[in-house]
Amino acid sequence: MVAVTELMLNAGDVLYREGDPNDCGFIVESGEFILYHQQEGQRVDCERRGPGSIIGELSILTGQPRTVTVQALEKCCVFRVSADEILDRFEKLDPILRACIETSINFAATLNRPAHHQDAIADLAPNTLRNADDLIEKFKFENDILKGLTRKEFFMVYQPIVRLMDGQIVGFEALMRWEHPQLGSVPPSQFIEVAETIDAISDLTEFALTQACATLAQIQNQSADHWDMFMSINVSGSDIGRYDFVDQLDHVLNMNGVQPQNIKLEVTETALIPTSDVSERNLARLRSLGYGISIDDFGTGYSNLAYLKTLPLTALKIDRAFAGDARNSDVSRSIVKFLVSLGGELNVDIVAEGIESIEDVAVLRDLGCRFAQGYYFHRPSSKSDILKLVTQDSLTMLPNESRLSG
Ligand code: C2E
Ligand code: CA
Ligand code: CA
Repeated sequence: MVAVTELMLNAGDVLYREGDPNDCGFIVESGEFILYHQQEGQRVDCERRGPGSIIGELSILTGQPRTVTVQALEKCCVFRVSADEILDRFEKLDPILRACIETSINFAATLNRPAHHQDAIADLAPNTLRNADDLIEKFKFENDILKGLTRKEFFMVYQPIVRLMDGQIVGFEALMRWEHPQLGSVPPSQFIEVAETIDAISDLTEFALTQACATLAQIQNQSADHWDMFMSINVSGSDIGRYDFVDQLDHVLNMNGVQPQNIKLEVTETALIPTSDVSERNLARLRSLGYGISIDDFGTGYSNLAYLKTLPLTALKIDRAFAGDARNSDVSRSIVKFLVSLGGELNVDIVAEGIESIEDVAVLRDLGCRFAQGYYFHRPSSKSDILKLVTQDSLTMLPNESRLSG
């Protein structure tokens, strides 16, 4: 709670004197003050401060005695704010903003130093960024993302999505990888969120779209049997909210001769809700053009079921926290069951994530899930490995005895 006390002053009253110890600041509600100090025995007026201004801030931030005398020029009302309250708020400021203020105060003090003390040019300025190492690391990482794009350190891998009934590959999910020159392989869970905060996500998404569409075109061109295969591409909420996103996507598809019906965009629930006007328009336009729209990591986010009905969805991807766990946990199994029935209500496909064993396959099938992906079928793999995989005679990822016939 803010420790404030109201004070009334008459014309001529002194709020505090130069050299007094400091323990608080004042916010002026009404009236006007004059600030002055003594220089070689003479009074020097510095400034007037009126309603809405703060008085006494400098000595609190510097921890020095008052540098001026403050006198009311008329009837005034001020609120007293304790030094602790001000310092507490200062500590909570953005570290860079705080360092700017501290540095400016120090620099102003240097400029005001008498000429015979101006020998301090060789002094190193005080270190005002208390968490400098962390901030430098953060900036370096952000900068590395931008450089990584031009240095071609990013690449895509692809994981098959299969039909659970017979293990047939029906499409792929494109997943991004970053091979950092010093840090090695950096997982997307570490760089996607950062890229979102520095507006680099649109460049990464464009890269993913371009690479993934080119790969799909190559897969489809291998055989007429592959024409129905699709590519699922992860996009962020901010991509969907970009006014030129659909045009950009159309352009990439045209360049590669790929049809919207063979592209599914994966977006997380939280990224979709609440949506802006632009994202709502984009989603509707994407659906009318024939793109698939999947909700990723379904079950972990907002789950406003009424809202889901209003979205133009084509698939729900059940997060591996539930799908991959359904074999071991009654709760996860119940959740998957509920999500599958919800998918039926919404008339969308259900894709289970994180299938790691043949037992998972059996459980998910029993629960009514029709599609799945996971390490059991295939790990995310390079484009060349995937192109080799689809040249095989059989595109089923299940052993004979585990296949069901239609
Ligand atoms: P996601 O979209 O849920 O992707 C599935 C994640 O599960 C991938 O992790 C995949 O490698 C992993 N996975 C697949 N099968 C299994 C399994 O059987 N067991 C286990 N334990 N994991 C499995 P990855 O590649 O590390 O990606 C993590 C997340 O990063 C993705 O989660 C997605 O949200 C994001 N991401 C990846 N690529 C992109 C991209 O190009 N753009 C955007 N915006 N996000 C991306
Ligand atoms: Ca995904
Ligand atoms: Ca997912």
